[in-house]
Formats: sequence, C-alpha cells, structure tokens
Amino acid sequence: MHTNKKRMRIRLMLPALLLMALLAGCSGSGSAQGTSEDGRVLVTATTGMIGDAAREIGGDLVEVTTLMGPGVDPHLFKASQGDIRKLDRAKIVFYGGLHLEGNMERILEKMAQQKTVVAVTENMPKDRLLGSEGSEEYDPHVWFDVNLWKTAAESVRDTLIAEDPANEAAYREQGERYLRELEELDAYVRERMLEIPEKGRVLVTAHDAFGYFGQAYGVEVVGLQGISTAAEFGARDVSALRDYLVERGIQAVFVESSLPARSMEAIVAGAARQGHEVVIGGELFSDAMGEPGTQEGTYLGMIRHNADTIAEALK
Ligand code: ZN
Repeated sequence: MHTNKKRMRIRLMLPALLLMALLAGCSGSGSAQGTSEDGRVLVTATTGMIGDAAREIGGDLVEVTTLMGPGVDPHLFKASQGDIRKLDRAKIVFYGGLHLEGNMERILEKMAQQKTVVAVTENMPKDRLLGSEGSEEYDPHVWFDVNLWKTAAESVRDTLIAEDPANEAAYREQGERYLRELEELDAYVRERMLEIPEKGRVLVTAHDAFGYFGQAYGVEVVGLQGISTAAEFGARDVSALRDYLVERGIQAVFVESSLPARSMEAIVAGAARQGHEVVIGGELFSDAMGEPGTQEGTYLGMIRHNADTIAEALK
C-alpha cells in the first residue's frame, strides 16, 4: 500500500495544483477567527482517531470536524472542495503525518502558511518509530501502540493550550483524564494478548497496518504483503501462507473494515482444501474507526474491539 506512493504522488501533482488554486481563492473567506458562532475553537482533523483525541481533550471548548469517516483509506484519500472548506474555516488543523495522508501533503503545506497545522506524530521519539517495508519512510500506523499514541494526545493538548491559553486549565484537566484512559487501555490490550498461548500470538491480516501493535504487545504480525511480493494474490501465496498457518498451528486470520475480505477468504478456502481448518477470526479496524455512535466509533472502543477480537479468536 505504501510502495506505489512515489509514482502516485507524481500522477496526482496536477489535481493537487488545481486544489491549491482553489485554496488560494478560498483563503480568508472562512470564519474569520476560526471560532464557531458560540465561541468554540474550530478544529479540523484528517482521521477519526485524531479527531477523537481533539474532541476528548477539547470537550465543549472545541468544535471538531473530521474529514475521513468509517471505512475510508487515508493513504488514498483526496480532499474534495468541501474538505478544503472544512480545512479553511478551522483555527487548528491536525493530521497524522509520516506520509499517512499521502495525497493531502501539498494542501496541508499550503494551509500551514495561513494557520496552525500540526502533525500529531511530530514529537514522537524517532527511536520508537518503525520503518515502512520496502521504503526509507516511517510506518505511519502509530495509533496501534496506545502508549506511543499518548504523545499524539499530548501534541493535541499542547496545541489547544497554545491557541486558546485562556482555557489552559480545562485542556490540562481533560488531557489528564484522556491520558489516564489511554494508559488503562494500553494495560488492557497487554493483558488480553497474554491470554493467547505464546506460540499462537500471530496476527495474520491483509495489509501492513499492525506493525506497531505487534511491537508493543508481543504479537508476531504477518501481512499478505510480507509474504507475497506480487501485486495480485495468487494460488502460490495461498499455499505459502497455508503452510505457515499449519506449521504454527494458527486457526484464525482477520479481515479489516476498510479492505475487501477476498484475499483472506482465499486463504481460508485454500487451507480447507488441504484439510487444515482456518476461520476468519473477525473484523479489525485498521486505518479508520467504526460508525459514529457505536463503541468502535471511538479510538478507545476501536482498539478495545481489536484486542477482544484477536484474543477471543486465538486464545
Ligand atoms: Zn494503512
């Protein structure tokens, strides 16, 4: 998913330039001070996970708009005119960075000349970042290490304080509460993974999103991309992964909410033909949260859902 990025970036240059022209026309036409009519700070975030942190820490003092809803792939996301307006009217823009929003980088750079635009991964210790397979860039899926994600929440808190110092005490208090919840979640995920026998702590998914999860919680992560170098998933890949599953005694693989289930269904069918029963252990949320109003529609709920699904299927 990350390897074609260079080529894609060049191909998308032209539309990006058009958007920049549009952006230049828009600038200054939004809410002048970046506040809502009832005086709340307008915040626009790219992914749901980042928007959720801003909502938790900002509380009633902020109005948060998130660009990417359930099931949206941030690697491929392109900002529409409506999205540009949402960025334009905000006082603060938060994004993931580390090239997560590969097609939005030019727009975000342009926005940064007009207002506060913050990559929430900006202050993460570099020695805790993982490399991205087949490239020199960092893996952007940092939210799966809950303890590391605390630094993203701290960036959100510190930015809110800097932009709205009159309400510093409230941001600190709400930030403390949220950081405590993240600590509890981190401990919860760790405990649930320990329920799985050590030999079976293997997470098999279609996409390369779970590297930080594996590193933080002692789970070996196997993505199809790590096993096959071919773009198309073929019979040889099925048998290679099937042999691996049989050898390790792994009985469940996982599908992701923002990707088609096809490739994982092929693994299950391939294994069954060879007499090894593998089931789809459930659906994990990877690059987007669930529907608003559900448990999985929050960062805490999404991570908890993933940990529960993995533990129940593999223990
Ligand atoms: Zn991803």
